[in-house]
Amino acid sequence: MTSGKIRQEGEPRIAVYPGSFDPATFGHLDIIRRAAKQFDKLIVAVLNNTSKNPLFTVEERVELLREVTKDLPNVEIDFFRDLLVRYMRSRGAQVSIRGIRSVTDFEYELQMASTNRQLDEGIETIFMMTNPKYSYLSSSMVKEIAKFNAPVQDLVPPAVESALRRKFGTSQG
Ligand code: ADP
Repeated sequence: MTSGKIRQEGEPRIAVYPGSFDPATFGHLDIIRRAAKQFDKLIVAVLNNTSKNPLFTVEERVELLREVTKDLPNVEIDFFRDLLVRYMRSRGAQVSIRGIRSVTDFEYELQMASTNRQLDEGIETIFMMTNPKYSYLSSSMVKEIAKFNAPVQDLVPPAVESALRRKFGTSQG
């Protein structure tokens, strides 16, 4: 589709961390903190994916991510519904960040990264290994636990815990 260098010498290094973030977990937050250290700017981009059936609206997911990353000055929260590579070009980003928890993640991520490379050779995907503490953690598991009114405070930040409680109408996380 497109190719060619996206970043000129001296321009800021901008990365995009795309995902559903339905909702953000400590696993996501760990990747965000680590990735933010490696780039001038990190854009966490919520995918507005109509084919999934999300618990939180895009606006709610963006709001929660803003709340839990407010201490990170070079992190911006946004959303997109276009092809990732096109969105990245529109934001002047050169690198896409993805987190890897397992071999299963890797196989899927490799396929996605290869597809994105096919679409735009100027864009790199960088994989970051999960912090082993969070290697089992996924948004779907968190939702499942919260639905049954079991505690999730070790899995998600307090703002997300409260939002889950409100969603499921439960009295404690
Ligand atoms: P998607 O629907 O795009 O997979 P997710 O919100 O589930 O969206 O995940 C976004 C990214 O974060 C993916 O690269 C995923 O592998 C990564 N990720 C999710 N949970 C964790 C975790 N516990 N540790 C590290 N990376 C994670």
